[in-house]
Amino acid sequence: MPLRLFNTLTGQSEDLVPMDGKAIRMYACGPTVYDYGHIGNFRTFLQIDVLRRTLQLLGVPVHHVMNITDVDDKIIRNAAAQGIPIGEYTAPFERAFFEDLDTLKIQRPEQFARATEHIAHMVELIQELANAGAAYQTEDGSWYFRLAAFPEYGKLSKKDLSGIEDGARVDVDEYEKDSARDFALWKAAKPGETSWDTPIGRGRPGWHIECSAMAMEYLGESFDLHGGGEDLMFPHHENEIAQSETVTHKQFVRHWMHVRFLLVDGRKMSKSEGNFFTLRDLLLKGYKASAIRLALISVPYRHQLNFTFDGLTEATNAIDRLRTFHQRLIQANLAPGSNPAIQAASEIAQAGYLAALSDDLNTASARAPIFDLIRAANTAIDQGQFFANDREVVLSVLSSFDRVFDVIEDGDAEPTRRALGWAKQAGRETDIAPELLARESLTDEAIDALIAERTQAKRQRNFARADEIRKHLADIGIVIEDSKDGVRWKRK
Ligand SMILES: [Zn+2]
Repeated sequence: MPLRLFNTLTGQSEDLVPMDGKAIRMYACGPTVYDYGHIGNFRTFLQIDVLRRTLQLLGVPVHHVMNITDVDDKIIRNAAAQGIPIGEYTAPFERAFFEDLDTLKIQRPEQFARATEHIAHMVELIQELANAGAAYQTEDGSWYFRLAAFPEYGKLSKKDLSGIEDGARVDVDEYEKDSARDFALWKAAKPGETSWDTPIGRGRPGWHIECSAMAMEYLGESFDLHGGGEDLMFPHHENEIAQSETVTHKQFVRHWMHVRFLLVDGRKMSKSEGNFFTLRDLLLKGYKASAIRLALISVPYRHQLNFTFDGLTEATNAIDRLRTFHQRLIQANLAPGSNPAIQAASEIAQAGYLAALSDDLNTASARAPIFDLIRAANTAIDQGQFFANDREVVLSVLSSFDRVFDVIEDGDAEPTRRALGWAKQAGRETDIAPELLARESLTDEAIDALIAERTQAKRQRNFARADEIRKHLADIGIVIEDSKDGVRWKRK
């Protein structure tokens, strides 16, 4: 089954198949490492992760390149304000980005490319544009792309650009969304700024040329897919197309994928609105990494996600159901044989799951049949109608689900501890939720001791003390389960 994916360029859903018959060559715009990533950034990276994993699940290899923008206006400004070289300024944010990828179990692309390590290739590309008459130099030594040289400009975003003023220029990396201007390819060095000495003069690259140069360096002049957040469609991706196709006279990218923005509590996320969250903010509030992952992928990429704390709680509960069921399945004592109804339900769940993902990565519809299967299986286990072969089949459906969703295996303790360590080092202790602090400062041994004390209290019929201990642990998010085999506990 091929993956049907919406293509921004054609405005239609199309099969995504490798043009070289081997692997999907794809490029996704990566982070600008001037700050910690926010949940809007990570929604995009997670949806690209869903794309990668779905292709792999369908048996299609991927070759995925992501850039790290480690030089731009903001980076230069912030580094200058602190009086340090840009590399020193970006290094901790780049490290944080990789940690955050691990936290969210986002698979690493096959190739990362730092802008500052590809300057020579960008310069070559600008020289080729100049030779083609599509780039010109201004008096200060900067280079601009001449929009008039690329009549197809606007074909991706479908913007009406008839009002383009010939020769109007813009030199900042981000500019008004509705005006098309000749854009900077190379910015001449200003005093005190980071710059490179090159055949086209002393300066630094513009943001757009980075992606064209690095994408073509690793993926060739023409490749399968380019992805990014919807805000990058214009002008960034439009500019990438103009630069690349002017030089190669080939289609730069066949398939464009854009991930919609998220809202937070129904509003645009912004620092001034007080609804701006980095991934780290959420971890410090006590939310699990897996719940953040599930909440950010469960709404399909072309739909606006309204991110709420209720949504995070829903994701937490869904993961609890998945993990509890998975445990139950593994531990159940089952007779040999199989239940035809469960076998059929498993097949339906697996087919429904694959069909939903193959249909433009519909993660919401992909979840539903899995939870239907869990309900059916739980009922069958309760009624003694679930057998050893059923376990095998249902486990294989769960493992297929987890190849894309990746939330069943519990790896949540480590990212939370890492975030706590970081917060303490960065002087952000006050951002840590008191409940999380209390829970994490209690060692496993201390919890075991409290639970032993509770068991002892119950034995002595001191129910008040036993309840007090249970309540104390519940308040800090430690759940006690009494069972035939004794008492188990877990951190919520
Ligand atoms: Zn880019």
